Amino acid sequence: MSTRLSKIKQLREQKKIELEKISSRSRTYSKGNKREPSSYRVCLTCKRILYFKQYRTHNEKYKSHGWPDPENKRRLSRCKLCEDLVQKKKRDRKPWWRLNILAKGRAKKNNLPYNINEEDIKNIWPLNNKCPILGTEFKSGIKNKNVLPTLDKIIPSKGYVKGNIAVISFRANQIKSDVTDINIFKKLYEFYKKK
Ligand SMILES: [Zn+2]
Repeated sequence: MSTRLSKIKQLREQKKIELEKISSRSRTYSKGNKREPSSYRVCLTCKRILYFKQYRTHNEKYKSHGWPDPENKRRLSRCKLCEDLVQKKKRDRKPWWRLNILAKGRAKKNNLPYNINEEDIKNIWPLNNKCPILGTEFKSGIKNKNVLPTLDKIIPSKGYVKGNIAVISFRANQIKSDVTDINIFKKLYEFYKKK
């Protein structure tokens, strides 16, 4: 038998053992820190055998989390693909969660007032899940950049405080940010209305 074939056979055998461990919920499986380092691993979510580089590494401080790879790093028990899907689901289910984290970061970076939480954003979220300015439905993911929901500071210098926030699309926010005086929009409207 060629080495390639024997390797495949060995991996299939490993998968069988791993799946048995998962279904029996044996304690040795959850006690990841006692595991031997391995190059291949069954993803707990999609059940595929994947090379260790298909798994994201754990933060250095979590020494007992996940499982050890041959480079002595800890890896997540879900593969990168499954992890991305989980993150996406979380973003889609609670989009205000992401907006709050981003706002908090920007407030800190730009030294702006911030006294809101994710509930405050949830409470002002448009009920039809559409941008109130452009009427486009909010979507997640980098491919939908223009229709991503963003948190607008109604009066920018006031920061992220209650009563000064609105959820609008990335595109609407971008248009607004080009104009410092909101009356410009009124003039724009008046000018083109007559045309
Ligand atoms: Zn997976």
